[in-house]
Amino acid sequence: MPETKEEELTNVICTFCGSVCDDVLFDVEKYKGKKFCKLGSAKFSKKERIKAPMIDGKEVSYEEAIEKAVEILLNAKRPLLYGWASTVNEAIRLGVILTEKVGGVYDQCASVCHAPGTLALIEEGVPGGSLGEVKNRADVVIFWGSNPMEAHPRHPVRYSVRAKGLLIKDRKDRKVVVVDVRKTKSANMADLFIQIKPGYDYPIISALRALVKGEEDAVPDEVGGVSKQQLKELAELMKNAKYGALLYGLGVTQSRGRDRNVENAIKLIQLLNRHTRWIIWPMRGHYNVVGAGDVPAWEVGYTYAIDFSRGYPRFSPGEFAANEVLQRGDCDAALIIASDPVAHFPKASVAHLKKIPVIQIDPFPNMTTLISKVVIPSAMAGLEAEGTAYRMDGIPFRVKKIIDTEYWSDEKILELMLEKVNEKLGLR
Ligand code: SF4
Repeated sequence: MPETKEEELTNVICTFCGSVCDDVLFDVEKYKGKKFCKLGSAKFSKKERIKAPMIDGKEVSYEEAIEKAVEILLNAKRPLLYGWASTVNEAIRLGVILTEKVGGVYDQCASVCHAPGTLALIEEGVPGGSLGEVKNRADVVIFWGSNPMEAHPRHPVRYSVRAKGLLIKDRKDRKVVVVDVRKTKSANMADLFIQIKPGYDYPIISALRALVKGEEDAVPDEVGGVSKQQLKELAELMKNAKYGALLYGLGVTQSRGRDRNVENAIKLIQLLNRHTRWIIWPMRGHYNVVGAGDVPAWEVGYTYAIDFSRGYPRFSPGEFAANEVLQRGDCDAALIIASDPVAHFPKASVAHLKKIPVIQIDPFPNMTTLISKVVIPSAMAGLEAEGTAYRMDGIPFRVKKIIDTEYWSDEKILELMLEKVNEKLGLR
């Protein structure tokens, strides 16, 4: 079959990773994407779907499944409502309100990835900038504990490595550094790769802070597997940048030091801003994981691990993050949306999930489907449903609906659930 011309394809926004590429195309006739990376193509291709709403594996109507889900949530003392990073802000907003109404715990995927960084941002603030600025201005980009070539494959081309911008006209105008514990695919595209010992991010950042301050004597000959000479060169490169960007990943937030690593890195960036312009920003994973944190923040003041069981929001990550709640056996029902904790959570958390009634809302079947009492299929945002998502740098994008489907959107499902909860609680 001949290739369809680009101008005949529909412009869409990729709803897979936090890069939220807005230059990709979709062929509605052939149900095929163009310009996507491998990850985006896999999502925007025909694949197995959850066929219909189900209760105990038996097909039912959307209304029946929603009725059952509401019954489960209202009968629970403290349900956990978890996921949210791969749906749109409109659905997340309804989810936060629903969690409040049923006196549950709201938690989202960041609690197992970038959330420690969130704590650091609360403490220190963030000298941030958009990906547009990185593309147009950044002459030094450091990927620290992040591997865009595998996690955000088009990020380097669109924004951070080979992207040509207003002031950065060519790849040669930009120095790219990768700091990691192993030689990743991203290390191969870097001008400089610095391999560090696992768990030594904090002391290495401290050494860089000392060097940027001119306190060379405070730095030993080697820190975390990196020689003083190499650290000095990196500190100089950072000081001499016209516009630098430190883009960190889970290698920083989930290794020894966690939020303290990010806090230390922010302090380094603050220090560098006395010399030149630097920003620091996390490389967020799921396409709307920023929304999963920002929406509850603008609704109730917190980004994750929020407990409503006392009728008002309480934030305590060591207590109300999904894994803490599950491993304590402190929830008696769960609603999982746009996520697959059975595949990714520790055994002890999954063991508790298996004991309680689970409601799943997702376009695609996954491991969580297998243990769910109620399964509600949903439309795929960006193709079959519209809504707003925040790119990893917090820039909002309107993702489109370009295909009609019999699947309900997350927003519609949650709207009806909320309506039913209100009705049963006599709230209107
Ligand atoms: S980089 Fe991310 S947003 Fe862009 S096409 Fe690939 S998966 Fe989609």
